[in-house]
This record gives sequence, structure tokens and C-alpha cells, in this order.
Amino acid sequence: MTNKKKQGTIVVGGGLVGSLLSIFLKHRGHDVSIYEGRMDMRKAQMSAGRSINLIATRRGLHALAEAGLSDVVLDHAVPVAGRMIHKLDGRQEYQPYGKNESEVNYSVSRGELNKLLLSEASKAGVDLHFDHLLRGADLSRGILTFGRGDDSEVTVEAETIFGADGAGSAVRNELKAAPGFQTSYEDLGHGYKELLIPAHPDGSYQIERNALHIWPRGRSMLMALPNRDGSFTVTLYLPTSGPGSFEDLQTPAGVQSLFEEIFADSIPLIPDLQSDFFENPNGTLGTRRCNFWNQEGRVLLLGDAAHAVVPFFGQGMNSGFEDITVLMDLLEKSKNRKSCFSEFSSMRKPDADAIADMSLDNFYEMSERVGDPKFLLRKKVEHLLEKRFPKEYRSRYSMVAYTRIPYRVAQAAGRIQASMLDELCTGIDDAVDMDLDLARTLLREKLEPFLAEHSIRHTD
Ligand SMILES: Cc1cc2nc3c(=O)[nH]c(=O)nc-3n(C[C@H](O)[C@H](O)[C@H](O)COP(=O)(O)OP(=O)(O)OC[C@H]3O[C@@H](n4cnc5c(N)ncnc54)[C@H](O)[C@@H]3O)c2cc1C
Repeated sequence: MTNKKKQGTIVVGGGLVGSLLSIFLKHRGHDVSIYEGRMDMRKAQMSAGRSINLIATRRGLHALAEAGLSDVVLDHAVPVAGRMIHKLDGRQEYQPYGKNESEVNYSVSRGELNKLLLSEASKAGVDLHFDHLLRGADLSRGILTFGRGDDSEVTVEAETIFGADGAGSAVRNELKAAPGFQTSYEDLGHGYKELLIPAHPDGSYQIERNALHIWPRGRSMLMALPNRDGSFTVTLYLPTSGPGSFEDLQTPAGVQSLFEEIFADSIPLIPDLQSDFFENPNGTLGTRRCNFWNQEGRVLLLGDAAHAVVPFFGQGMNSGFEDITVLMDLLEKSKNRKSCFSEFSSMRKPDADAIADMSLDNFYEMSERVGDPKFLLRKKVEHLLEKRFPKEYRSRYSMVAYTRIPYRVAQAAGRIQASMLDELCTGIDDAVDMDLDLARTLLREKLEPFLAEHSIRHTD
């Protein structure tokens, strides 16, 4: 059955970005509806192995604060102040993230956050339509056709369409009809699977609560993030094919032997390793890029639909939330939606490309270098620079996680800083031996002109 209703603004996808975007638009007086392919997740049981924990950092927290939602979200989160590296021999080494205790990240369940944002959207008066999966569209005319679980179809016409339907976006697929539109996907060749470290019977944590735990083993990696109930959601990253890959691990003995070989100290923490491994689904990882994200002033892609990244900088959601605040600023200034969407697309894309590249860099850093003594020395020297020269030096990680400096600027500053670290680490084995005079000269000659050019002044 087909029916056709005319709508103001439609957000396709009620995930993290779509639900937060709809709240912002509603607060600004738009008539907004979300069309979401799944059933209402607030009523449905979350499927096992798809619970994913996310790290929320400054950009995402800023967007939540602008929507008046940071307190309610932080009530559901666990602060995470640094990385705990689990070495092959079982020793652990803690690396703080920020320059002081105020610089922490927050671990939050993706499902819980999504439910909360949907409830807030509903409270704000957004019309929510679940079980509406976009199947086809004529975007130039603003016409969308959704399929429902009972095989019926609903066709709607909208003034404005936001594509917030995630990495596999159907809106993006329809945008292929727009002149000149191009999109690419780069598969990482690695997948992920969720495992669980449960709480102790008394509800306490089995490992340090306020840390992101990492077991870096070359191209394989285990990561664990805390939940509020004392458990940790663990993500196992493995190559998709080849020795030691998901494809290769087909038997309980194979899984046991991989864990004994490279993640031995995690085995007692994960009592349901075998069932988690064989029952939970595998997820894929890759980078999505598009040459632009809008069709005239009618259609705009945001979040993963526009720029999905690999999760190793913890910025997918954060960058999607930042899309929203950047867009809101532009909408405020511009009366013309066409130029606003075009400006958003051309201004924001270099930032999306930068965080995509930095997320890939971080994959190599976390998987290969995080346990390497030379890398650890660089991190210590960097930490010292941040402490001694807080107004001039912020690590690239800090700029991405704790500031709203555009991603492309953080990336460029990071390149300059990497060359400074090369010089400062040459010939020393201990960070305390860093040559402070050389550091001052490098700051003055290399970094300060860049900071001045971009009007960046870090605070103490
Ligand atoms: C293992 C892992 C770890 C991660 N860790 C972090 C982290 O620490 N920090 C961080 O910031 N990010 C992280 N991310 C990334 C983050 O999950 C995504 O960037 C974020 O969920 C993107 O939000 P979105 O709303 O754009 O897309 P999604 O959250 O995917 O939402 C898209 C929505 O659209 C709906 N939909 C899809 N197709 C259709 C259709 N045809 N019709 C209607 N509706 C449709 C979907 O059902 C879904 O509800 C991680 C991702 C992974 C995989």
C-alpha cells in the first residue's frame, strides 16, 4: 500500500547523529520527523554482541551540552583517564591521556546513549517513525519510499532531507544520481567482535575502572572499556583473513591457543570467551569518503553516512556530533539553505578527511607501536613538553580529544610536532634527558608561527 504525505524536514536514521540532529532542529523551530529502519530500540532487547562502548570526548560533549544533554548523558558514563597497556608478559603500564585530571574521556554504551537521545527527541516533539527502512528515493524532488516489516510501503515528500543513516547509508546511495557525486570505501582488512569481562559477584571491577585497557599485539588487538555495572565491553580486533584471522579461527581450540599465545592475562577475565567468540557477530571496519555531501539545499549527509572512519581515535560519533554544531552555526548565519549545505560540505570535508587519516594512523599506533620502547619514550617526552610548555604544546591526541581545534589543523600541527619529537628523542633513552634549550628553539621556530597563523592559544 502506498500513501504520500508532505513533510517539512525528514531525518533518515534515528541513530546517534540522527536523533541528536533532530533535537537541535526541533529546538530551532523546524517541523522534524525521524524515519528509522529498525524497531524502537527502547522497547526491543538489544541483540547480543552489538552493545559497543564509545568514548565521548570534547567535541561530542560540546554538542550534547549545546543541546542541554551533557548531565543526563554523563550520568550514564564512566570517566576514562588513560590507557592501560597489557604487555605480552602480563605486566601493565598506565599512560594518562590528558595533561591533568580534568582531561578525561567518557565511556558510554552506544545503545543506552541512542535510547536516551531518542527519548529526548520524542520529548522535544520530534515525530518518530520506526520500522521505516529507506528503499528508494527521488532526491531531486524530495520523495522517499520506505519499506515496513509487514511488506507495506510508505512514500513521503519532504522539503529537506538529512541522511543520518550510518555507514551503509541508503540516502548516500541515492545521492549517486546527483551530477558529479563520487564515493569510495576502503576496507581496513580487519574486523571486530565483542566479548565481555563481567563484574565480580559483588559488582566491583576486575581491572582498573577508569582506563581504556589495550592488549596491542601487532595487527591483532584487544580493547576493553568500562561499563557502569562493573563489567567491561571488550572488542577483539583481528585481520579478516590469513593466519590468526577471523576466517582462520574456526574451532574452540584455535581460539584458546590464540588467546594463550597473545592475550594470556585476559583469559581468566573473560569466562565466556568461547561462547562470546562463536555466538557474537563479526563487524567490519573501513573508511568511507565522498567528494561532497549535499544535493542543492534539499539533501545533506551527516555522520557515518558522510564519513565513516575506523574506530581507533574514538572520533566517529564525536565527529558526527561536531557536524551538527558546525551545521547549526552555518544555518544560523545563512538564510539560503543551498549555499549553507554547500558551504558545510566544502568546509567540513577537509576535517572529515583529516580525522579519517588520523584514525588510520592511530590503528597502526595502537596495534604496532604502543608497546615499543621508542614509542613509549616519545609519549613521555611529549607529556613532558605538554607540562613544561602548556601554552605552546598540546599533543595531537589532546587537540583531537580535548579541544575543538578543527581536525585538519590538529593534523597539520601534529606533523610539525612529530618532526620536533624526532629531534628531541634522538640520542636519549629517558625523557628526563630531553634538551630543554633545543625544545624551546624548536617551539619558537617550528610550532609558534603555525599556532599564530591559526590563532591557536592553548590554555594552562
Ligand atoms: C567497534 C566500534 C567502536 C567505536 N568506538 C567509538 C568511540 O569510542 N567514539 C566514537 O566517537 N565513535 C566510535 N565508533 C563510531 C560510532 O559508533 C559511529 O561513528 C556512530 O555510531 C555514527 O552515528 P550515525 O548516527 O552516523 O550512524 P549509526 O549510529 O550507524 O546510525 C544510523 C541509523 O540509521 C538507521 N538506518 C540505516 N539504514 C537505514 C535505512 N535504509 N532507512 C532508515 N534507517 C536506516 C540505522 O538503523 C541506525 O539507527 C565506534 C564504532 C565501532 C564499530
